Amino acid sequence: MSNNQELLARRERLLGRNMSTFYQDPVHLVKGEGVWLWDADGRKYLDCYNNVPHVGHCHPKVVEAITRQASTLNTHTRYLHEGILDYVERLTATFDGSLDTAILTCTGSEANDIALRMAQAVTGKTGVIATDHTYHGNTAAVSQLSTRMPPVGGFGGHVRHVPAPDGYRPLGGEDGEAFVRAWTAAVEEAIASLAESPFGFSALIIDPFFANEGFPDLPENFLVPVAAAVKKAGGLVICDEVQPGFGRTGSHMWGHQKAGIVPDVVTLGKPMGNGHPVGGVVTGAETLNAFRKAFRYFNTFGGNPVSCAAAMAVLDVLEEEKLQDNAREVGAYAVEGLAKLADKHAIIGNVRGSGLFFGAELVLDRAEKTPATDIATRVINGMRERGVLMGKLGIHQNATKIRPPMPFTKENADFMLSILDDVLAGL
Ligand code: PMP
Repeated sequence: MSNNQELLARRERLLGRNMSTFYQDPVHLVKGEGVWLWDADGRKYLDCYNNVPHVGHCHPKVVEAITRQASTLNTHTRYLHEGILDYVERLTATFDGSLDTAILTCTGSEANDIALRMAQAVTGKTGVIATDHTYHGNTAAVSQLSTRMPPVGGFGGHVRHVPAPDGYRPLGGEDGEAFVRAWTAAVEEAIASLAESPFGFSALIIDPFFANEGFPDLPENFLVPVAAAVKKAGGLVICDEVQPGFGRTGSHMWGHQKAGIVPDVVTLGKPMGNGHPVGGVVTGAETLNAFRKAFRYFNTFGGNPVSCAAAMAVLDVLEEEKLQDNAREVGAYAVEGLAKLADKHAIIGNVRGSGLFFGAELVLDRAEKTPATDIATRVINGMRERGVLMGKLGIHQNATKIRPPMPFTKENADFMLSILDDVLAGL
C-alpha cells in the first residue's frame, strides 16, 4: 500500500467514511508558504484554491502574532481584554456606519446561525429565504438553508428557496434589467409565501457574490431592488461574507459593498484568521441587543485573545501589503488570460469573476451551454497532477474555482494559465 492509501484507510477508519478529500489522488500536504504548498514527497504545488490562508500560507506576521499572544495569555471570553475590543473597532471601521458592533465566533456556520437568530429576535418571525444552490454552513439551523443534503426528517417548511442567480443563463431568459426584475419577483413571491405561512418572513440570507452558486457576473446593482423589497416587508438582509470578504473581490473590502447594498447583518469566517478558527457577525447595536436579550448567547472560544491577535494581524498584512489592490490587478490580468484561453478552447463557455475569485464555466457546446461537469472534474484532477491546485463549483458543478491566497502574482497567474492551456489541450 502506498503512503497515501494507508493514510486514506486510516482516515476512513478514524474520521468516518464520508470525510471526503479533494482529487482522485488526494494530496498529502506537509508545508505551506505564501501561495505555495509542498507534499510529503517534497513536490511543490501552486495554491489556486485556498482562501483561508488569506494573506498567504504561514504568513510570518500572523504566525508571530499568534505565538506572542499564545505565550502571554489565552482564556475564555468572560474577562476584560483589549484584544477583542481593538479588533472589533478596527473591523467595523471598514463597514457602513450602521454596522458598528460584532459578536465573534469560531466558524462561519456559527456566525450564520446567530444571524438567523438575530433576524428572529428582531422580527419575531422565523421564515427565511435562501438560494437553491447555496451553502451557509453545518449547524442544524443553517443546514436547512442548503438543498445539497436534505436534512433527516426533511426541511422544516420555514425556508423558501429562490433560484440561484446565473448571469450565463439569466432567469427568464433575458439579461440586464429584465433579469433583475425576474429575480426580484422570485424573492418577492417567496416573501409573500412566507408572510402567509405560520412562520412569517424574517430574513433573506445571501452571499452577495454568490460564490458557492458559481460567482455569476450579474447586472450592476442586481441586489438593490431585492434589498429594498426585503426591507419593505420588514425582514432583514443577511450577507454571508465568508467567501467574498476581506478584499478578495479586489474592488471592495466586502461583497455587499461591491453589490451596492447595506445589509442588516454580515457574517464572516474563513479568511478572517488566516487559518486560525475565527468568525464573526457584524450588525447594528439595536439588532445585537435584541439578539442578546432573546438568546443570552455565550461562546467560550469566540473572540479569545489569540484569535483576535491572528485576526488583527490579517488586517495589518492586508493593509501593509496592499493585498486588495493586488487582488484587483492580478485578478483582472488572470481573467484576461482566461478569456484568451477561451479563444483557443471551445469548452470554455463563460469566463467570470472579480479580483482573486474567478474561473471558467466549462460546457459541451456553447450554443446549448450544456454543462461539462465530468470534464471539469478531469480538468481539476489534471491540474493537480501538474502541480496546480484548484476546485470546481457552481449550479452545475462545472465552473473552475480559482481563489488563491491574496499575494498571488501575475507570474503565478501565467504559470496557472499555461498549465490550464496544456490540460485543456490534452482533453
Ligand atoms: N458560508 C459560506 C458561504 C461558506 O462557503 C461556508 C463554508 N464553505 C460557510 C458559510 C461555513 O463556514 P464554516 O465551515 O467555517 O462553518
